Amino acid sequence: MPKLVPHNRLTFGEAECDAVMRTVRSGQWAQGPRVQELEAALARMSGVRHAVCVASGLAALRLALGALGIRSGDSVLVPAYSCVALANSVLAWGAAPVPVDVDGTHWNIEPALCRSHAERGRPRATIAINNFGVPAAVEEIVSGDVPVIEDCAHGFGIKKGGRGLGSRAQVGVLSFYATKLIGGGEGGAVLTNSDPIAHFVRSARDYTDQPADGHRMNDKMNDLEASLVLAQLERLPEMIAAREAVASRYLERLADPRFQRLYRIPPNTKERVWYRFAVEMLTTSAEKVVLGLEGLGIHAATPVTDWRPSDSPAAPVADRAYRMVVSLPLYPTLTEDEQDAVVVAFLRLCEENAHA
Ligand SMILES: *Cc1c(COP(=O)(O)O)cnc(C)c1O
Repeated sequence: MPKLVPHNRLTFGEAECDAVMRTVRSGQWAQGPRVQELEAALARMSGVRHAVCVASGLAALRLALGALGIRSGDSVLVPAYSCVALANSVLAWGAAPVPVDVDGTHWNIEPALCRSHAERGRPRATIAINNFGVPAAVEEIVSGDVPVIEDCAHGFGIKKGGRGLGSRAQVGVLSFYATKLIGGGEGGAVLTNSDPIAHFVRSARDYTDQPADGHRMNDKMNDLEASLVLAQLERLPEMIAAREAVASRYLERLADPRFQRLYRIPPNTKERVWYRFAVEMLTTSAEKVVLGLEGLGIHAATPVTDWRPSDSPAAPVADRAYRMVVSLPLYPTLTEDEQDAVVVAFLRLCEENAHA
């Protein structure tokens, strides 16, 4: 039995080990100078005035919503195909997440639907994800006075139209969960040009010496995490290039016309970062493909889990994405042999299904 090809594998070397060891030896483990250094680096990279580090991507979303004044009874537009963290961040304020359907190509929130929601209802904010690394059409989503949060948990490093990650909307949000583009174990950040938003998040991440209002959690990032993220940032261009090389090989190898009625591979767009290589199955469910691949030693995944209550508004594209989208292994350390094994197993499954 050959070794399993995992769905994710972390990328790190001596630099990450040294960075953490230095922080351990410094005796400063909690939020301190490394977090400050990371905030300066993130603000510089993304071209915004403020980067505020917090405990997670979910904390970043929650505090960004708080900074925008979201309160009980408000509604917030979120992509219908999205990580449950978005819904949780909205619900934390007593507000209602309103799932909006996504486009059928990259599964990003549909701008036209956001605009019609803004005309019909009174959403207080919109969260847009750069899904799997493809920039959402943030400029088209901004409508009237509904602020937009750009969730860059997948889309770190995108420079669209010369503007840096997270700088295209009122607020940008990052996650440094271990398997994201840049890992720190856990962690997140809020990016913004707004002084009041940055001030709110900076204050709200801590509860010390503040009145009890039920919203102050412990949302701080620590220096151990920040030193890991700083070391990972040094590798970002190299990691993005390595991911691109893996994606190009998939695009080449899976573009087999024999299988075009069985699956759809993502179109290559220059502006994207390859966080995930997501294939839309056309005839077999994603669940069945993941199980089949597992039997062949390949860990694939259904990358997003449906969180929507049964009385949610219709979102047929998202419904299909939850059922049919499979994420294949894509990371800088995926070897060519491993990738060949993935392609062979995937095509073999498709062949079997075609004859079934
Ligand atoms: C992972 C993720 C989050 C949450 O980040 P955590 O750091 O795990 O809390 C939010 N949004 C998207 C799109 C994500 O992929």
